[in-house]
Amino acid sequence: EQMFIDTDLEKPKIAFKDVGGMDAVKEEIALKVIHPMTNPDIYKAFGKKIGGGILLYGPPGCGKTLLARATAGEINANFISVGLNDVLDMWIGSSEKNLHNIFQEARLNAPCVLFFDEVDALGASRSDMRQAAGRFIINQFLDEMDGVKYSNEGVLILGATNCPWYLDAAFRRPGRFDRIIFVQPPDQKAREEILKIQLAEKPVENVDIQSIAKQTQDYSGADLKATIDIAVELKLPESLKQGRVIPITNSDLKNAISKHKATTKEW
Ligand code: ATP
Repeated sequence: EQMFIDTDLEKPKIAFKDVGGMDAVKEEIALKVIHPMTNPDIYKAFGKKIGGGILLYGPPGCGKTLLARATAGEINANFISVGLNDVLDMWIGSSEKNLHNIFQEARLNAPCVLFFDEVDALGASRSDMRQAAGRFIINQFLDEMDGVKYSNEGVLILGATNCPWYLDAAFRRPGRFDRIIFVQPPDQKAREEILKIQLAEKPVENVDIQSIAKQTQDYSGADLKATIDIAVELKLPESLKQGRVIPITNSDLKNAISKHKATTKEW
């Protein structure tokens, strides 16, 4: 079968340890999709069906995409990320690339995590054109996900959305996205972990992670990253001027916090 695909196929080098917080979510992903794939015989012996997907939902920037990539990294699988808005555009533009080809690429490259972002794009009412495309693509999606014609063995399907309430109920039937997990904004402990991860390879001096985490309530992981980026920008010019690396301090981070506000409250 001729295929015209340029979806990015990647072998992520990150794993769960690179994602701060989310212990319960990691646990659930392990039980639902990782263990069934690494120990299929044990699951079969207990009559547990393997398959189906997990839908992650929550405010933007809280690590859904990162977690999906890390899931692939955990089990040394390939990773394909697809924005469903792009799939809609492809369909409207009658591009050769379509959902079937994307699923086929994942099957050919199994073990593979197939990650669908913006799943709500298929449910949200937009223009008539996009709605018609949406209906068509939902049906195609469900067909491919059910794996009737082609087996999805070794393909882990993860989805993400900021607006799960727009989702067609058909997606949530058994064998489809039958687990829906809320990825919440990081709490104090999770923010401490995220800050440690994000500062690990940067020059820092006397940074009080606990206090910085306290001052960043309602910050998403992406907000924390943006804040650290600001601190880096504060230190770069000075370092360049002096011709040596001048580390980021606690007050640089406090300064950066005052320049970047939390975004999860808007959700
Ligand atoms: P969106 O809904 O906007 O797609 P998302 O939930 O998928 O957001 P990501 O794209 O995974 O969020 O997160 C953006 C960036 O924020 C990540 O690439 C990472 O740098 C940082 N980040 C977010 N959450 C975490 C986390 N739990 N641990 C470490 N870094 C994080």
